[in-house]
Amino acid sequence: MNFRELNPPARTILTPGPVEVEPRVLRAMSYPILGQFDPEFTNLMNQTMHMLRTVFQTENEWAYPVDGTSRSGLEATLTAIVEPSDTVLIPIYGRFGHLLAEIATRLGADVKVIETAWGGVFDPAEVIQAIHAYRPKVVAIVHGETSTGRMQPLEEIGRACREFGVLVVVDAVATVGGVDVRTDEWCLDAVITGTQKCLSVPPGLAPITYNERIAKVVAPRKRVERGLWEPSTGPDASDPVSGIPSNYLDLSQLQDYWGPSRLNHHTEATSMNYALREGLRLILEEGLVQRFERHRAVEQVLVRGLTAMGLSLYGDPDCKLPVVTCINVPPDVDGESVRSMLLRRFGIEIASSFGPLRGRIWRVGTMGYSCRTESVLSLLGAFGATLRRHGFPADTEAALAEALTAIESFAPVSTMA
Ligand SMILES: *Cc1c(COP(=O)(O)O)cnc(C)c1O
Repeated sequence: MNFRELNPPARTILTPGPVEVEPRVLRAMSYPILGQFDPEFTNLMNQTMHMLRTVFQTENEWAYPVDGTSRSGLEATLTAIVEPSDTVLIPIYGRFGHLLAEIATRLGADVKVIETAWGGVFDPAEVIQAIHAYRPKVVAIVHGETSTGRMQPLEEIGRACREFGVLVVVDAVATVGGVDVRTDEWCLDAVITGTQKCLSVPPGLAPITYNERIAKVVAPRKRVERGLWEPSTGPDASDPVSGIPSNYLDLSQLQDYWGPSRLNHHTEATSMNYALREGLRLILEEGLVQRFERHRAVEQVLVRGLTAMGLSLYGDPDCKLPVVTCINVPPDVDGESVRSMLLRRFGIEIASSFGPLRGRIWRVGTMGYSCRTESVLSLLGAFGATLRRHGFPADTEAALAEALTAIESFAPVSTMA
């Protein structure tokens, strides 16, 4: 077999992840490896924790990445706090709510699910009522549901959970770094994100944060790995098996690795940590508020362009997720054929959706470095031409004119990182 040199084509990625990565982040990944106990590296780990607290908008001590894609962070957090037969309430309004329910079910929890139709979100009062009815130990909920392009308001739910002594775990994989997520102000006990969405770093890490309420539940389940035990590590060696039924995703051991005791666990993914550190640094350099504004502004350019083109958007506009725009595939248009032509002819990737929405909507992500006006303008031009090839009378000229007008109206906002 003749393997040619790896040379992936340059793409314009407008999906809900993985998204395009800033050249500076890619460059950071090419630096030499440091040993995991090298003070240069542990110092870098500390800096990452520091920047993560700012991005998560929290004062929590614990803010660090789990190695693995976003769901490793979801699974690690739930595995650390859910014990068999604990009641876990999961409000579901799309695919990723089902994922939370699956993880909790695998842990042997007594899972209570409430569902609302895809395309909308819950009235917080419905969730609060279910909390009253089920008295769960944990509520696990998605903030930005990428499968349907909706965003669940969390402030009231978070406050209610705090009041009732319920732990609330939030999948903010799609929102952190692109949309305001106020961990402390909204009383969120654990928040999980992923690198390949609005942080605009390659897939492979799941930054998480959690507060003392979670740490208190984790502490009694903590064990020190037998081969690492010395008198100074505490009385754990007699029972080397942690109460947490995972080794790789054991938060009690991970926090000892990221914390001052630096008790070794796995080997940290060096290059991914370089990437995360640089990605976080770029977010702070841009400024959180400015970054959220950029995501809002580019969303408006996209939405106005698509609407002027003659397309209709899917879902309840009142709870639209700013970083994912869902478009109804017009009747008689083959959605997959449109996506494939966009990729083949224009090098532009947009997404389909899952389950009941598969083939019915297109999803356009405007996240992180992919959230740029020039990418949106390229998409609008390419989309219009492609839709005409598929028999839909797209008004490309009107779409581009409207998008340009929108860009001009946002002139004071930097639309480029
Ligand atoms: C992408 C995504 C996930 C899953 O992330 P992986 O990185 O693929 O593990 C989970 N939840 C939400 C809301 C997502 O958008």
